Parts: sequence; structure tokens; C-alpha cells
Amino acid sequence: MEIIIGKESGFCFGVKRAVDGVENEVKNKGKLYCLGEIVHNEVVVKRLKEKGVVFVDNIDEVENNENIAIRAHGVSEEIYNKAKLKKMNIIDFTCPKVMQIHSKIKEAYSKGYNIILIGKKDHPETIGSKGYAKNVNVIEDINEIETLPNFDKVFSIVQTTFSYDKYIKIEDKLKEKYKNIICINSICPSTKNRQEECKDISSKVDFMIIVGGKNSSNTKKLYDVACAECENCIIIQDENDKKIEDSRKYDIIGLMSGASTPMETIDKIVEKINQIK
Ligand code: SF4
Repeated sequence: MEIIIGKESGFCFGVKRAVDGVENEVKNKGKLYCLGEIVHNEVVVKRLKEKGVVFVDNIDEVENNENIAIRAHGVSEEIYNKAKLKKMNIIDFTCPKVMQIHSKIKEAYSKGYNIILIGKKDHPETIGSKGYAKNVNVIEDINEIETLPNFDKVFSIVQTTFSYDKYIKIEDKLKEKYKNIICINSICPSTKNRQEECKDISSKVDFMIIVGGKNSSNTKKLYDVACAECENCIIIQDENDKKIEDSRKYDIIGLMSGASTPMETIDKIVEKINQIK
């Protein structure tokens, strides 16, 4: 039996920085609020809760003067302003790549551009980035381009974890509609590399295991990529999922995780496969 583990598996740089940061801060402070789940991963969230992290969906749920952490996805300017008004101690783990998107949106707005943000409308990163200018039009599907007005000055930018293939088609169509558009491809290399490696491994194995949280959109994307290349794919959150038992039927097994899964989960899955075998 052979197990091929994706080199891109495990937390991405931004998520690792945020999870390690929150873990350190709660150790020092005893209690720490975090705005939204730090990662779409139940195992990690449970562990941090046990250490004293309180996850809240809305800043209004937190009393004045508390410590509040911001996760890698980032938040809108309005949230920073609210936190300052409430005299909170903001511990900011917004990924530097997401911060770059915020500053580019602000700059484009100050220069009079109409802004198109390509991203999942309900994704926290998109919701945060949208809050850096008043005229941000969010689209997530190529068909939405025809509903956009005929702007003179247009600037587009994209959610860091958006599907690379889907983005390229949207960018081409935007360039057809707006001749002078400035398009910034801000998809994180970690997302693209992970999808490419997943495709490559899936084409070589009998059984492909995608690991990640149920609500993680980048994990779902990896599963779609894997299914296009390999007939036998499963998506699991950790080593306790019964679907892992199927690995006994196959000789070459591939493993790839989403950006919100720690390497320790991958290690436990490998251990479980070896036990099953
Ligand atoms: S995927 Fe990229 S941009 Fe998003 S948190 Fe990870 S490193 Fe940062």
C-alpha cells in the first residue's frame, strides 16, 4: 500500500498565524473573544474553546474593554470603529494578503473607480472586504456580469480563496465588457497550489481522501477537483469518520486537506489507515 500526502496539506500561512496567535493570547490572558470561528474546523474550535476562547458572531455580544481577536478572514472598517468605540483591545490576525485587498479597494475608491469584488457573497472575507468602499459590487458568477452597469472607470479584485479556473473566465468576460478595466488577481498562491496538487495526486491514486471542515468552502472545492480525476473520493473531517474504512479496498491512497485542517489531523488519519490495513 502507498499513501501520497499532499505537500500543500495542513494550515495555510494565514490560518496558522491566526490559530497560533489566538492560542498564545488566551494562554496569557485567560479569556479571549474571537469574532467568528477562527477556522472552519470543529476540532480546532473545540480545542480553543476549552482553553478559554469565546467565539461570537457579532461584536455587539461583547462587553466594553474586552480583548477581541480578529481572524485571518479580516473584517470591515465598521467593525474596527465599533471595537474602538467599545474601548476593546483588538488583537488582529487578519492575513496580510487579505489586508492588501482592503488597502487596494480603499485606494481604488479614493481614485474614483467603481469596484467589482469577485467572491462568495456569504463568505466572511468577502463581507469584510466589501466594507472598505461604498461602491463595491460583489459578483460570484459569470452570469452576473451582464447585470452590472456600464461603468467608465472600473477596478476588479478577487477573494483570496476563490476558484482559480472560475476566476479566469470571469476576468476574461469583464475585460470584454469594460475595455479599460484594471483587474487584480488576488487569489492566494496557497489556494491555487493546493488545487493543482490535489488534481495531480487524484489522477494517480485509486482512492482520494479530502480532509476538512464541513463548512469550509476551500475543502469543498478540493473535493470537486478530486472527483473530476478519481472515481473513489471521500471527504472527511477527521480520523473518526467511518468512510475511512473504505481505504482497505485500495492500494494507492491520496490525502489532501483544506487550509483549515492542521497537520496533526492528517497524521492521525495516516495512522488510522495503517491500522485498518
Ligand atoms: S488562504 Fe492565503 S490569503 Fe487566505 S488566510 Fe491563507 S495565506 Fe492568507
